[in-house]
This record gives sequence, structure tokens and C-alpha cells, in this order.
Amino acid sequence: MDTRIGFGYDSHAFKPGVPLRIGGMALEHPEGLAGHSDGDVLLHAVTDALLGAVAAGDIGSFFPPGDPRWKDADSAIFLNTALEELQHAGYGIANVDVTLILAKPKIAPIAPEMRAHLADLLQVEIGQVSIKAKTPEGLNLDHVAQCHAVALVTRIREEEELKSMEAVIESQRQLEDVVDDLLASVHGVPRRKITPVYDTEDIT
Ligand SMILES: [Zn+2]
Repeated sequence: MDTRIGFGYDSHAFKPGVPLRIGGMALEHPEGLAGHSDGDVLLHAVTDALLGAVAAGDIGSFFPPGDPRWKDADSAIFLNTALEELQHAGYGIANVDVTLILAKPKIAPIAPEMRAHLADLLQVEIGQVSIKAKTPEGLNLDHVAQCHAVALVTRIREEEELKSMEAVIESQRQLEDVVDDLLASVHGVPRRKITPVYDTEDIT
């Protein structure tokens, strides 16, 4: 299959006295997001979307919340692991679309900068990344930040596989030529007659 899609969701509660990090950026705000790591709700949702796109599990299966190694960890580490999984599966990002849901701070003024930063983290062009923000109207969830993310990924390995197969075939041909030349020069054995792999007349 050439195209796959992944979806990710995350939520964290606001907590006073904690630095606020969203989309890999430090934001000025009296409260941050509580979590075992840096609580970056956006990067967690995008990480899960990428892992989901190649059915590689979820953020918790790679980074268990109780593991002391991930205490206050930079969530870019999680995102990089998801990018590696994507690459191993032979896929690259087509585009990522994100919706943040939080009452404060207002994201719209910094959304362009956040979008550029996320594109850098994902190693894609800015046009492949979208960040939208909403307030949690009618949900009574002003103390919580939520994030939804979808990622469309496309197969990239085929071209590379073809190139490496061509290289192997070419090097085998060169090796056969060298062996034939050696045999011819040492023993006077004539060069082998090249027979096609398939006798086309037998194919009916
Ligand atoms: Zn999270």
C-alpha cells in the first residue's frame, strides 16, 4: 500500500509553576502542562499519529510513563523515535494536521512560528504542516489542553530498493565478466554464452 493514515490524541492538565511547552516551544504562561515528561501535548499527539500510521504501537509502548529516564524529558525525543519507526517501515510524511484545544494561552499569534518549528522537528517543508487552535467551548475543560493530530504518510522505499537491486545486478554482471576474462586468458576457455533467464518460447 502506498498511502497510510495515522491519528493521535493527547490531553494534559494545567499545573501552576511548571514551564509550558507546546509544539517543542517554550511559551510564556503562569501554568504549564503536568506530565511525566515535559507534557508537550502537541508533540505527543503527533508522535502517536506517526506511530499509528505504520501500526508501530503508541508513545506509551516506547516510553512507559513510570520510566525514570523520561522524567521531564524533551518530547522531541519521542517524536524522533516515531520518525525512525516511520523510516524503518519505508514511509515518509505527506502532511500532518493538528488541532489544539485549550482556553489559554492564545495560540493564533504564535501558530506560524509553532508551525515552522514543528516542520523543522519533522524534517519536512512548512507546507506539509498545519496547526489550528480552538478554545474548549461548552466542555468545561479550561484547565486542560487537548490535541488531535492526523498524519498522512506515503511509501518511499520502493525507489531506493529498485536502485539498490540495479546496483547488485550490475556488480554481478561485472564480476561474471572478470571471471570469464580470467578463464579465457588462463585456460583459453571461451567466454560463456549468455543464456536468458527465461526461455520466452516456453511461456504460453
Ligand atoms: Zn502526553
